[in-house]
Amino acid sequence: MVKQREARLDIITGPMFSGKSEELVKRLRRFKIAGLSVKVFNHSIDDRYGKKKISSHAKDQWRAIPVPNSQELLNKVTCRTNVVVIDEAQFFDEGLFTIVEELLRREIIVIAAGLDTNFRGEPFGVMPQLLACADGEVLKLKAVCKICRKWNATRTQRLNGDGKPAPYSDPLVKVGALDSYQARCRKHHEVPGRPDSS
Ligand code: ADP
Ligand code: MG
Repeated sequence: MVKQREARLDIITGPMFSGKSEELVKRLRRFKIAGLSVKVFNHSIDDRYGKKKISSHAKDQWRAIPVPNSQELLNKVTCRTNVVVIDEAQFFDEGLFTIVEELLRREIIVIAAGLDTNFRGEPFGVMPQLLACADGEVLKLKAVCKICRKWNATRTQRLNGDGKPAPYSDPLVKVGALDSYQARCRKHHEVPGRPDSS
């Protein structure tokens, strides 16, 4: 008999405002119609919209379980779970890579969304590992650049309270007010103090 579902890892990535959470919510609606048992997780550090849901900037929402680390995520998966959805995967510890492998061994479909690069424009957390071992779909989304208005933004610009670009030396994780982040294209992405910047 042909199996209806194959375990696989799909990745949805791109900068802030590129539509990652929107895409997750769209897929969650399909999984619901298909009658699959889905567990949705986000990281408990991400309390921008209230913890117990994933939410897009266009206000799509879905109930989610906030977890502080990858082991807690695994603990909440049961033998009935068909699909695991993870939003803001870049906030998780490196252990998420091994845990995703374990979920795939258990024949669970895994879909992870997260920022591919941090505000410095460098690979973010566990995302490069997840991207490398994705055996399903890899979707790289773009946003509209805040400066040139082209739909080519691949970077997340962090701004300080004074509206100036945050320096390279700033901490990598800062779950701040939404107006402290913008989507920008490579040309308009600014990181003062970046080693390779002239
Ligand atoms: P992500 O999860 O990638 O941060 P969301 O799914 O939360 O993105 O939000 C995508 C929505 O954000 C878009 O549908 C649009 O309504 C809104 N939006 C705000 N600013 C931008 C921008 N610069 N480029 C594209 N969409 C934007
Ligand atoms: Mg999002």
